[in-house]
Amino acid sequence: MEQRKVRVRFAPSPTGPLHIGGVRTALYNYLFAKQNGGDMILRIEDTDSQRFVPGAEDYIITALEWLGVKFDEGVNYGGEYGPYRQSERRDIYRKYVNQLLEAGKAYIAFDTPQELEAKRNEIANFQYDAKTRGAMRNSLVMDKAEVDKLIAEGEKYVVRIKIEPDEDVVVDDMIRGKVTINSSVLDDKVLYKSADDLPTYHLANIVDDHLMEVTHVIRGEEWLPSAPLHVLLYRAFGWEETMPRFAHLPLLLKPEGNGKLSKRDGDRLGFPVFPLEWKDPKSGEISSGYRESGYLPEAVVNFLALLGWNPGTEQELLSMEELIKLFNIEKCSKAGAKFDYEKGKWFNHKYIQEKSDAEIAEMFIPILKEKGVDVEAYNVEKIVSLVKSRINFAKDLWAQTSFFFEAPQTYAEKDIRKRWKEGMPQIITELVALLEKEENFASAALEEVVLSWIAKNEYHLGNTMNAFRLAVVGECRGPHMFDITEVIGKEETIARLKTGLDKIKPVE
Ligand code: GLU
Repeated sequence: MEQRKVRVRFAPSPTGPLHIGGVRTALYNYLFAKQNGGDMILRIEDTDSQRFVPGAEDYIITALEWLGVKFDEGVNYGGEYGPYRQSERRDIYRKYVNQLLEAGKAYIAFDTPQELEAKRNEIANFQYDAKTRGAMRNSLVMDKAEVDKLIAEGEKYVVRIKIEPDEDVVVDDMIRGKVTINSSVLDDKVLYKSADDLPTYHLANIVDDHLMEVTHVIRGEEWLPSAPLHVLLYRAFGWEETMPRFAHLPLLLKPEGNGKLSKRDGDRLGFPVFPLEWKDPKSGEISSGYRESGYLPEAVVNFLALLGWNPGTEQELLSMEELIKLFNIEKCSKAGAKFDYEKGKWFNHKYIQEKSDAEIAEMFIPILKEKGVDVEAYNVEKIVSLVKSRINFAKDLWAQTSFFFEAPQTYAEKDIRKRWKEGMPQIITELVALLEKEENFASAALEEVVLSWIAKNEYHLGNTMNAFRLAVVGECRGPHMFDITEVIGKEETIARLKTGLDKIKPVE
């Protein structure tokens, strides 16, 4: 068989915000397509009108663009195989449903929901299949005239696949190997419903993968149970030759305990499970997103790529380009991948460190403005350079730097107790006098002056420096003391020391 161009698709149903597991599926499809010089398609599977949520499609597009997962064709991108929204492809599906009916691979069934319910109550583990279909109301047991009459009278019907019993169905999965199941365990799934003139997911999915010349179906593990039916559909259509290869990705598991990662885990443990913030159009409820929580897209991509796959080396920091080179779908794990949120923060920390001070300052400036800081008056880049090694997110910067912009209002009691002992106010008063004489507040220069003054007077180095810090910062933490005084300058440093002398009272 001639080598076909690799074509993959990401085929979400617009039923709400894209879950982080769905993002990983899109990412793996993208990595696979790009490493094979192939195309990536965005297909929207919206045949279930009951579950349609407005805004979900735009959300999916915006989220993946933010992350740098790019499509070559599809909804919003155009292409030769459209339309790419399934709700716009009704005529196509009807044609293929008829093809299966004519070939005797599918049949029409009139059983009402009540009749089906009655059967389920009557027969334990009832399924609609070769054993039971003879006792149901369908075109296999009725004559054609009767079927035509019911349809003409407007009776609602469905089309079901006619599954031949006792055949081995092999799903050849790139991750799981050959999975064989017996067709007798499958039921005659509904492919089409006359009520809304729409196919079900199964039919639309197979027809579209075929028509869009999809070569590889990479999707979540939850679709593995549908795969044997899909193989049978390819057979029924006579499309085995060009059947895509399957890869069912491992589940994303809760950070602790067992089971699938859910939105509730995120709410409980305080992390987002969606790429972007999402406001539910019905309830108005807001779910947090990675973007709004301050994650860099590169960090999210790197973090997600390693949930279910790794390059087989110690290397953890991988750019999109490196991922495209190294990703290997066959090396994905079969077992679920635990969602380690702390690791996500670590990735963001690493990627923030790779940004320049100017880039980080850019992210910090809106936060400063919100706090009412006159940003023009400060060298924000310099301030960022002093604390960036301590942050995971741009939003952490305020807690690390607020004392550059505002004098302390309170002083940490435990630090007062430890450092502001008897005699300390006298020493700090002398320090004020010393600083008043100094013109050069450059970090190294002032450090030399202050340290030699401490040495000459034989003051306690740790206590004196920490008392100095307590008055300037409000507590005994922060970057190098003389970097702080350089930034805030002579006047502010002296003013804070004087306020400290006034306000800090030794505690017993
Ligand atoms: N519409 C399905 C979903 O929402 C697609 C499954 C598949 O990729 O075949 O995940």
